[in-house]
Amino acid sequence: MKKLYILLAATICMMAAGCNRQSEKMTDMKYRPLGNTGLMVSEISIGCGGFEKMDSASALELMTVALDSGMNYIDIYDANPKTRSNIGYALQGRRDKMIIQGHIGTIYKDGQHSRTRDIDETRQGFEDLLSRLGTDYIEVGMIHIADSPEEWQELQNSPFLDYVFQLKQEGKIKHIGISSHNTEVALMAAKSGWIEVIMFSMNLAFDRLQAGANPWDKNAMNNLQAGIDPMRIELYDYCSTHNIAITVMKTFGGGGRLLDEKQSPLGKAYTPEQCIAYCLAKPCVATCILGIDNIDELKADLHWMHTTEQEKDYTATVKKDEAEQPGDCTYCNHCSPCAVGIPIAKINELLDKATTEGLTPELQAQYDALPHHAGECTDCEACVSRCPFDVDIPAKMKKAKEVFGK
Ligand code: SF4
Ligand code: SF4
Repeated sequence: MKKLYILLAATICMMAAGCNRQSEKMTDMKYRPLGNTGLMVSEISIGCGGFEKMDSASALELMTVALDSGMNYIDIYDANPKTRSNIGYALQGRRDKMIIQGHIGTIYKDGQHSRTRDIDETRQGFEDLLSRLGTDYIEVGMIHIADSPEEWQELQNSPFLDYVFQLKQEGKIKHIGISSHNTEVALMAAKSGWIEVIMFSMNLAFDRLQAGANPWDKNAMNNLQAGIDPMRIELYDYCSTHNIAITVMKTFGGGGRLLDEKQSPLGKAYTPEQCIAYCLAKPCVATCILGIDNIDELKADLHWMHTTEQEKDYTATVKKDEAEQPGDCTYCNHCSPCAVGIPIAKINELLDKATTEGLTPELQAQYDALPHHAGECTDCEACVSRCPFDVDIPAKMKKAKEVFGK
């Protein structure tokens, strides 16, 4: 009966105009553009880690529920043959329903998944990926983890990168991406002009790391700042304005830390919905990739589709953390990015200084040097709902224009 239902559902989907990889007519899943790639991806998507622990029947069941629910994006970083074969088996006959972000530069050796830049290993690892998935291409070829500026530099003009471009030329990957936990690397990649997708670690805690801090460093996680690190703001703004997609990893803080009061670096537990809503509030984010170990976890994650606005609201908790009065700007940057690129927090900071200390030539010079000015505000209010402090941002922009003259 279940098979008959699936067959019938698939037939209806095929008949529906414009229905290809999305099941939007059958589910409440929402879709977002994957940057400039022309692909539309589900707001929540599948991380591959759990497939290693499943048998093929469980993998098939999980994939069926995910596809029927409208999920159409999967990240496959893991070189473990069992992970890849399980996913390949689960996608048999419906490869075209799933957009695959597969990693280049991973190999399974000595019984474990490893990162590699060795060209022979890289080639072998990628060919194994295609073969086990039963496909001759993937949509996003993700350069696996570059986590320092030195690693980014080493990539340039390397045989590894030549191979990545060769794969694109041959149509074995349709788009080039990179994964990183390092903001500086992600920003350099965004500005490279040839990276279309960045898999980046983003969540309520990592965004508050001090510049350059490593999210796995316990001390760094104990010294989070109030607002978002300015380099992260620059990354998110750049990606938004240049249509470079961010696919989010570590949505729940890495290993689900943010969901557990005892482990949460912010001292309290957040709900999965708050964590997802936080990331999706940034226009550059295409999808949150969620680690899913079994069907129960998948079903819990799919609750996202039916979450109320109240359940998604993370701003009250941010406000409590940062203990400010409504209406006062804390320069935290949670409202970023502005639809036209205005650096809202910086302008509010300069405006507040000019109001309390008087407009000095130095303040005016700092204002003039900004890439965009308050006078460009279109009153669109896209930023307003992202401010946890109820700041009337359009009014602030009007005031700043008056004070600074543009
Ligand atoms: S209201 Fe003004 S400041 Fe806010 S996003 Fe729109 S243009 Fe930017
Ligand atoms: S306007 Fe709100 S969100 Fe934006 S920087 Fe100020 S307090 Fe933070």
